[in-house]
Amino acid sequence: MANTLFEALFAPLAGRDDVLLHLADGTGLSAAQFLDMVSRMAGALRAAGVSPGDRVAVQVAKTPEALALYGGAVAAGAVFLPLNTAYTPAEVGYFVGNAEPALIVADPDRADALAGVAGGVPVLTLGPEGTGTLADLAAAQPAGFGAVTRGPDDLAAILYTSGTTGRSKGAMLSHRNLLSNAEVLAREWRFGPQDVLLHALPIFHTHGLFVATNIALLTGGAMIFLPGFDLPAILRLLPKATAMMGVPTFYTRLLDDPRFTRDLVAGMRLFVSGSAPLLAETHRAFEARTGHRILERYGMTETNMNTSNPYAGERRAGTVGLPLPGVAVRVADPTTGAALPAGEVGMIEVKGDNVFKGYWRMPAKTAEEMRDDGFFITGDLGRFDADGYLTIVGRQKDLIITGGFNVYPKEVEMVMDDLPGVLESAVIGVPHPDFGEAVLAVVVPEPGAAPEPAAIERALRDRLARFKQP
Ligand code: AMP
Repeated sequence: MANTLFEALFAPLAGRDDVLLHLADGTGLSAAQFLDMVSRMAGALRAAGVSPGDRVAVQVAKTPEALALYGGAVAAGAVFLPLNTAYTPAEVGYFVGNAEPALIVADPDRADALAGVAGGVPVLTLGPEGTGTLADLAAAQPAGFGAVTRGPDDLAAILYTSGTTGRSKGAMLSHRNLLSNAEVLAREWRFGPQDVLLHALPIFHTHGLFVATNIALLTGGAMIFLPGFDLPAILRLLPKATAMMGVPTFYTRLLDDPRFTRDLVAGMRLFVSGSAPLLAETHRAFEARTGHRILERYGMTETNMNTSNPYAGERRAGTVGLPLPGVAVRVADPTTGAALPAGEVGMIEVKGDNVFKGYWRMPAKTAEEMRDDGFFITGDLGRFDADGYLTIVGRQKDLIITGGFNVYPKEVEMVMDDLPGVLESAVIGVPHPDFGEAVLAVVVPEPGAAPEPAAIERALRDRLARFKQP
């Protein structure tokens, strides 16, 4: 037996001397060079005591080495557990306690702070320049690591999603979940070896790590691999790309810049948007400026991608398109799970090889979100139109999406309610021109107390990632 994901995504890089990763400084890494990094990372994980099935928690800057660490984890049969770089050590402590990784990989600047919450789990480092103790260990490994056998049902990754109850849940994703979705998307969006994907999304989230990277690796294309969304760099590099994937904030920021013109994107064939609602107005403004109709798709950490506007057919603004091949999508009565007719609003529920295997060590939570017939209850509310296009009209889950990142009000409220002078709080999402939604907190002081907003903000700094702070 082979290693499902490794065979599909990484093994084919062997012997390819074309550039796989174009970097911001103009240099590049060939596919074969990248595969060599992957192989050494796998060796380093093994040398660090990581066995097949072990979790590897990773909170590092986006670099080729960090991406190679994902490949190395796949090759070593480990479960990759990427963490948002904005999480505070206190937040990381929870993930480590819950996932019990065999190894933590941290930015060198944060290694001490993370060691403090690691509970004895070893910490290796990997910095924004791709250097650190993990990189040193990788450099000392022989090339040609033989990928560990892993079948389609084995876990490849755990991605934490914030929980409505305030506790984050680890979504368990198998090799089959990831590969099936990459295959479908690659076909639907017509990716091939000629493509150059402008990659400015983070690689700790499903969008940048799986949707973008897996498709590019699977189809033999290249990526322009940027550490983050840097507008000048994107304007400079767009003419070298054929496709881009982004959150709506990327597109509104591009539109806000007069240098973003039709000429600049003459060589592009595809712009994809997801992770948060794209306003129909942004869709139209983008078409007016560039002639391109953004292709909006809908997915989530637990399910990978579920629906997509068509590549060739009509891309309907304000909708998330049609169910992907192999993905069953229904709009159901939230209480009974019975499918509703087109035009009626109900719970969006999905089933298919794309749907995760459950929440790590939370069978009760998993059961709560699954119907008896295997459909996953997304928490998103939607409506099908007569042509089968799905529109998301809201969320039953209490969730704010700010710049593409999810914030669960309950989590923020629980932290705020613990602060001195705060009796209780309510956290809500309000419209924001750049982030789509912003986090706003309403605070009820304890009798006689008058907590200062600035003091509350200061107190939250160590406790909550920046994007969650009201
Ligand atoms: P995440 O797990 O971080 O990818 O967040 C998933 C959630 O983002 C979904 O459950 C939706 O609420 C939301 N989402 C993703 N894509 C879209 C979209 N195209 N339009 C509206 N909401 C979206």
